[in-house]
Amino acid sequence: MGDFYKDLSEELKKLQAQAAYREFRTVENHSDEWVIVGGRRLLNLCSNNYLGVANHPLLKDASVSAIHRYGSGATSSRLIAGNYELYEEAERAIAQFKNTEGALLFNSGYAANIGIIPAVAGRGDLILSDKLNHASIIDGILLSRADYIRYGHCNLTNLEEHLKRAPYRRKIIITDSVFSMDGDLAPLPELVALKERYGAILMIDEAHGGGVFGVNGRGLAEHYGVSERIDIIMGTLGKAFGCVGAYVVGKKVLIDYLKNKARSLIFTTGLPPSAVASINAALSVVQDEGWRRESVLHKAALVRDRLQRAGFNILNSQSQIVPFIVGDNGKALEFSHSLLKEGILAPAIRHPTVPKRTARIRLSIMATHRLRDLEWALERIEYTGREMGITGGGMLS
Ligand code: PMP
Repeated sequence: MGDFYKDLSEELKKLQAQAAYREFRTVENHSDEWVIVGGRRLLNLCSNNYLGVANHPLLKDASVSAIHRYGSGATSSRLIAGNYELYEEAERAIAQFKNTEGALLFNSGYAANIGIIPAVAGRGDLILSDKLNHASIIDGILLSRADYIRYGHCNLTNLEEHLKRAPYRRKIIITDSVFSMDGDLAPLPELVALKERYGAILMIDEAHGGGVFGVNGRGLAEHYGVSERIDIIMGTLGKAFGCVGAYVVGKKVLIDYLKNKARSLIFTTGLPPSAVASINAALSVVQDEGWRRESVLHKAALVRDRLQRAGFNILNSQSQIVPFIVGDNGKALEFSHSLLKEGILAPAIRHPTVPKRTARIRLSIMATHRLRDLEWALERIEYTGREMGITGGGMLS
């Protein structure tokens, strides 16, 4: 036993030495564009609350009413006795919003991916997964026991080579729609063409596309006009929708199948009724308040443009997720600490979350950020970039 704890503590020391040690940060108010941490007011540039609805009165009222009516918990799996009318209402609303035959709720995006993927793929199948896919997709793939190839990031030639390979019962292509650490967009029309040419299945994760992209906020698939040609679309409700949970949409037979086969749905307590009520409210707010979508995309474009002109490497970001490369873990932490001193919360994303030497600051823009706050933050970022020699020019020579 003694050795066990010693081993754990050595592992932690290793992480510290690599500047990869992680700790919680306590936020003392609500999750809006300014947060209070350690008594200090900080501009929040790392929230997934892209549309700024997490604190919306309609979402909060819906949750409170549901607590009064149904209590605090679902009390069992939905397949036992934890399925209130509220849940089916949410699923109907999601299917209608996404214009699909059916929808199914999961407790989180992580739970959705580790439930859906092993349900639809197993031994004898091949999964082709973009190299930069989210960890929950990777974990779902590992649980599935299917053969697994990571194709080069958005690399269609590489993907096609793999699609041509050996006969498998089922070939499934899986990709994030908007990549969580790079903010770039999957080439969905080309992926759809490839999957059709090779008789493969296409699954996309709209965690960061849902609510933000598409004229109705249905996601990147709507933006590209290819929703109907994608077999499995999942997305989370904890980001642009400001709630918690996730959904999968598709044909009715897929939904019925997942109800029977997705272990992370079957063997878990349903979402609390309050969460589902706020999801219902969020679906209306996201559709009714289209200005939020326009605003976040507009502001993100301004931020990307400014950073690029200042000489930062923002990779191929085309979304509200705007990273800029700093280099090694230690340097990225130093950058983030400097910003924190100025009153800006923009954490470093480090290896192993991202490839070595591409540690970065990842900004996420919200519809409700004020332009003048963004302006101030950009000035401070530019200053720090020059001071640290990330963008040329040097300061105060
Ligand atoms: N997929 C992607 C692409 C994500 O970025 C995330 C969350 N970071 C998830 C799934 C997991 O979603 P959730 O937070 O709802 O578990």
